[in-house]
Amino acid sequence: MPFETALTKALGIRVPVVQGGMQWVGYAEMAAAVSNAGGLGILTSLTQPRPDDLRIEIQKTRRMTQKPFGVNLTVLPTISPPPYGEYAQVIIDEGIKIVETAGLVKDYVAKFKAAGCIVLHKCTTIRHSLSAIKMGVDFLSIDGFECAGHVGEHDVPNFVLLNRAREQLRKEDGSLVPYIASGGMANGNSLAAALSLGACGINMGTRFMATVEAPIHHNIKQSIVDATEDDTDLLMRRWTNTARFYRNSVTKAAAKVERESTSGKFEEIADYVSGKRGRQVFLNGDPDYGVWTAGICMGLIHDIPTCEELLKRIETEARDAVMQQAAMFKEDSKL
Ligand code: NAD
Repeated sequence: MPFETALTKALGIRVPVVQGGMQWVGYAEMAAAVSNAGGLGILTSLTQPRPDDLRIEIQKTRRMTQKPFGVNLTVLPTISPPPYGEYAQVIIDEGIKIVETAGLVKDYVAKFKAAGCIVLHKCTTIRHSLSAIKMGVDFLSIDGFECAGHVGEHDVPNFVLLNRAREQLRKEDGSLVPYIASGGMANGNSLAAALSLGACGINMGTRFMATVEAPIHHNIKQSIVDATEDDTDLLMRRWTNTARFYRNSVTKAAAKVERESTSGKFEEIADYVSGKRGRQVFLNGDPDYGVWTAGICMGLIHDIPTCEELLKRIETEARDAVMQQAAMFKEDSKL
């Protein structure tokens, strides 16, 4: 029996799992594989060099899957600010109906909603989630401190953050705003736990990087499998833009600069954390070439399955976990 949650119903997907936007990973190959496997695949706008390339990538994805997929638009500090408005316009013009947003996106959310899109918005705090509800987003993607990339500045992990979401995320009329759990999610037990904490699905990034179809070098997938939950570093707190990366020689050097720099200028660390350099990691397979984001759920990733195998396994594991919990109550009632 398939899961039926607010997420699966609204998005028209079988498994309540979203593949979150990932810079330099969210190409057509990734999104289509996840959508074909029954989850929601997502293209990452800024991974495309120009807005017109995003248009081509959306059309390519449509040729690779008949299933629903979405597009991510993230607005955070960048070394060379891209034309965000033009990317947003391509998303609308191409008739995309599911958008994942993150960062300072108020104006774009209004445009996506006017165009009839379902908007999933990523937030690392309850305060930001409440603002996002006022912006009119449809789903919150609650991003716990375990996550890869931009963890926010409050460091609240999902055991508390999701539970707070369950208490707080309501519209003015008192109705609950649906949310999914993002950060630390890697298997069916993650999904079962998230459902217990009031979520209607999960978002996974790092777990999807270690799949057959992820369009990144095999060495990086293997590095994720070989890593543990202890193998990440946090950088850029000094500039209120904290992000979690796979720990390597570059993150260690960057952390030293961040700690010891007397100027406090971002430029001192820019070359270490540059996305252009990090992108090469996924192409050349050298995990030490630059920084690349990964979550602490690496400790839960032990293989490189296809997306189909992964999502089937997650469905089975989650169902087993929920059934085991229910069985405990049956046992109790016999006492
Ligand atoms: P980039 O090369 O422009 O910057 C590298 C890192 O430094 C990023 O984390 C960025 O946020 C940060 N940064 C840049 N200028 C900064 C400043 N003045 N102060 C503080 N921090 C600063 O980034 P990129 O890898 O080319 O990515 C482009 C954008 O997409 C960035 O904003 C990045 O954070 C964001 N991103 C998006 C996703 C996604 O899923 N859509 C994932 C990761 C990052």
